[in-house]
Amino acid sequence: MPWRKGQRLPPRVTLILVAATAVPLVALFWVSWRLLAQDRALEDQQIDQRVERAADIVAAALERAVAAAERRLAEGNRDWPDGAAVLTAQGEIVQVWPAGRAAYLPIAQKIPELPVEPFAAGEAIEFRERDFNRAAAIYRDLAGSTRPGLRAGALLRLARCLRGSEKPADALPVYTRLLDEDGWAFEGTPVSLVARQARCSLMETLNRADDLRNEAALLGSDLQRGRWSLTRAQAHLYAQDVARWGVEPSPAQPERELLAEGLSALWERLSLPGTAASGRGSLAVRPQASVVALWSRAGGRVSALVVTPRFVSAQWLAVIDPVLREQRVKLMLHDGTRGLPPGTVRRTDETGLPWTTVVAAGDPKAERGEYQARRRLLLLVFLILAALIVLAGTLTFRATSREFAAARLQSEFVAAVSHEFRTPLTSLRQFTDMLREHKNLSDERRALCYEAQARSASRLTRLVESLLDFGRMEGGARVYHFEPIDAAELARRVVEEFRAEAQSSDYQFRLTAQEPAAVEADAEALGRALWNLLDNAVKYSGASREIEVEVRRTGPEVMIAVRDRGLGIPAHERGLIFRKFQRGGDAVRLGIRGTGIGLTMVEHIVKAHRGRIEVRSEPGQGSAFALVLPVRR
Ligand code: ADP
Repeated sequence: MPWRKGQRLPPRVTLILVAATAVPLVALFWVSWRLLAQDRALEDQQIDQRVERAADIVAAALERAVAAAERRLAEGNRDWPDGAAVLTAQGEIVQVWPAGRAAYLPIAQKIPELPVEPFAAGEAIEFRERDFNRAAAIYRDLAGSTRPGLRAGALLRLARCLRGSEKPADALPVYTRLLDEDGWAFEGTPVSLVARQARCSLMETLNRADDLRNEAALLGSDLQRGRWSLTRAQAHLYAQDVARWGVEPSPAQPERELLAEGLSALWERLSLPGTAASGRGSLAVRPQASVVALWSRAGGRVSALVVTPRFVSAQWLAVIDPVLREQRVKLMLHDGTRGLPPGTVRRTDETGLPWTTVVAAGDPKAERGEYQARRRLLLLVFLILAALIVLAGTLTFRATSREFAAARLQSEFVAAVSHEFRTPLTSLRQFTDMLREHKNLSDERRALCYEAQARSASRLTRLVESLLDFGRMEGGARVYHFEPIDAAELARRVVEEFRAEAQSSDYQFRLTAQEPAAVEADAEALGRALWNLLDNAVKYSGASREIEVEVRRTGPEVMIAVRDRGLGIPAHERGLIFRKFQRGGDAVRLGIRGTGIGLTMVEHIVKAHRGRIEVRSEPGQGSAFALVLPVRR
């Protein structure tokens, strides 16, 4: 149909169809644009709200972990994992658990000093007379005493005399005995420590390098185990000695130092007036390091827990790790409120925790990615909907166009049929009038009139039969009576009849027939098909007057071809001319009579004969239509 002019839809219908497509399309675009924009605006807000909620959940989880530690502390538990130290204090007596966990104590501990009196005589000989042998003899006697203080003091002095009298090797076993004398101090230093340190110096003096290293290692391990309650100065001094004598400090040393510093900082804080009886706090002990302290004080008794960042992450943060993962956030703990990273901040006064907590989205990129994926999906749905609307619009447009075109074709058909009828009817009336009005017409003229009337009547009959036949074909009611016929003979007969009837005396019909061309056919139907082809050849011959008809047998087929040298058919029309009511552009433009059902019928008939129709045409050169039928065997 596209090749027919004037087939456009009426503007009003086109407008309605365009509006019916455009309005939902615009509405869809508007809704999707709004939804997408809203979603983007919500994205940040939703992430913030989620992180805000997570910050409270995380704070509560941390609170549970810290409170559990406080309960353990209150229960008097002294066995704590690495990175934690418990301090108990009653007056000036301070103890740290587990032993050796901290490098030193916050304050010096009072250990009983060795008695001095019993050694006055010995020391007079030792220092004034500088008689080390005699003094040593006195001390040796006293070293046999069962009184621990006396014994320890004597051993210490005996060893000193032996060193003074250039007998360092003899001093070594004396110091060994002294190693077991715990519980006494000499000028503030535990005597067993003095003994261990002295043994090291003697080994050094004696150049016994291996022994020195072993001895220093023993000193180091005792320091590590917390055998002695030392002050910071003492601890550092002996640690330096140990290092000087070639023993590597233990890897746990920095942690012990940190805990000791933390305990000292806490002790200082507790001694400040106005410090709460119980509390939690983060204590910055160095610019880059801080510890967390939990303490409670009742009736002069203090118990406190100090933990390092390592403990916090290994114990407390490990516990809340699942919470962080579930909430898809990351947590940062801070001492103060300055220099905080971006995120949701909960200060210590809000949470009661020892840190300011900062909670931020765990993987904001991935989270944004999720939102983006959701938006992309939404966009895809919108695009599919838009495509469906456009498709529905296009289909409706095409169906409506087709309906309109069919309606127009039908009305054109009716007009064309009326026109076809009018011509022979007018001719009939004219000749009838002539016969009636001119009574004295010569016999010759009268005969011409009758002939003309007969031609018009036969044309009308043919027209009516053709229409009835077309109706039957359309309704599927056309019945064919097949019989063996010779196509060449049929062609000759039809061409003769056509020439006689079609007032086409100036046309030259050239028939070439190869006989016999036996086919099984409905002679009347096949004749009509050939008649239609001849009729078209005449109608569309233009200025040409030559028409060829050829009947030929080619292999298993018989071909009946009609060739003209007329207008020809443009390529784009060739596939459409067999459709009912379809007329070519030239046919309409040049006002050539016709109804557009001729070729439809030809195709119907030839198909009923299990044959086909072939067209070859060149605009301006003419056309050839061939009915190709199976040969009769
Ligand atoms: P119509 O009544 O219009 O002739 P047909 O079905 O017989 O209807 O033919 C359909 C159209 O095919 C014609 O309108 C014409 O454009 C084209 N046509 C048919 N036969 C010829 C021919 N021999 N030469 C040129 N055009 C032809």
